[in-house]
Amino acid sequence: MWGMGCTTALIYTPEYHRYRFNEDHPFNPLRLQLTVELLDACGLLDGAHTLVPPRAATEAELASVHSPRFIAAVKAASAGELDPAGAARFGLGTEDVPIFPGMHEAATLLVGGSLLAAELVMEGRAAHAFNIGGGLHHAGFGLASGFCVYNDIAVACRRLIDRYGARVLYIDNDAHHGDGVQDLFYDTDRVLTVSFHETGRYLFPGTGATDERGRGDGYGFAINVPLEPFTDDASWLEGFEALVPAIARLYRPDVIVLQNGCDGHCLDPLTHLCATTRTFEGAAALVHDLAHEHCDGRLIALGGGGYDIWRVAPRAWALVWAALGGQTVPPGVPAAWRDRWAARSPVPLPAAMRDDPADYPPVPRQPEIAAANARTYATVRDISLPLLERRMIERGS
Ligand SMILES: [Zn+2]
Ligand SMILES: [Zn+2]
Repeated sequence: MWGMGCTTALIYTPEYHRYRFNEDHPFNPLRLQLTVELLDACGLLDGAHTLVPPRAATEAELASVHSPRFIAAVKAASAGELDPAGAARFGLGTEDVPIFPGMHEAATLLVGGSLLAAELVMEGRAAHAFNIGGGLHHAGFGLASGFCVYNDIAVACRRLIDRYGARVLYIDNDAHHGDGVQDLFYDTDRVLTVSFHETGRYLFPGTGATDERGRGDGYGFAINVPLEPFTDDASWLEGFEALVPAIARLYRPDVIVLQNGCDGHCLDPLTHLCATTRTFEGAAALVHDLAHEHCDGRLIALGGGGYDIWRVAPRAWALVWAALGGQTVPPGVPAAWRDRWAARSPVPLPAAMRDDPADYPPVPRQPEIAAANARTYATVRDISLPLLERRMIERGS
């Protein structure tokens, strides 16, 4: 019985910290160290729940989703040999994706982590694997974008299809639309992409409307659930719980990939959503149950956005990790962790592992926001789900 706890693998190495654009960039890998140390302090890394270091992806693996010219450009940029005009064509050297020495190698290691997670799960060496450094969902075929150089998620999904013949359900719970993954599998029914995100009316990358549904063989196999600014836990989880199990039932995946971006938290500096840790833990717990119901438990979890590195990402990802492994999280943030980091944190560190939503200011116009989201959920339920059902039959799936 999975409720008793599943074997889980945490993919991480301190080498992940080489993926650092510059000192001022919001994408700060220190959050990974903070997370691993918090897991350790909480007693959440033990015999059945272990840390596994990744290997780097090969260039051929990168080329399963990225253009050779793009990979060559990243390598040249990484070595300091790409001129600015050439870089801009590939989304490199921008404010979002500045060039830094060794960026090719650093990004390639994150991809290798997601490949390892896929292999561990598909070969039964772990029930679930969580690559906290992965989840770089914006990178495209020939384009770096939104802090993402290579798309580790897409490379892993490609591996799941090509080596294991799997039908993949990809669920993206990051505050930003999972545009890169959606685009790379827009023409195929082998990956169903489902993205919950703050509406593109107000947030990068601007895409992810409900009428983006896929194309050709992939028509009906992209589902988007744009959320209103200031969406809170109750409204977010209402949609997640109403739609995701129904989607899994229709699609009958062999494996689920869950992106656990935690930038929808109300403390996140880059978005306008108002979730607490409840949303990230609740989503992971629900998807974990679905993996056991539909896929013999096969679940690959990834990180993603999360720019309050002190108060949000470590706790959110600790709760995700514990939900996958069936482990009990202590109520308080361990004093040893707080003492170790208090002096470096610019904000007071939280005392509790789980947020109490009452500690956050009430969301303005909450009923109107929940009502607007409910209309979006009804659109997805009444249009996207019947379309998926019809397309499954047409595709003979
Ligand atoms: Zn499990
Ligand atoms: Zn994000």
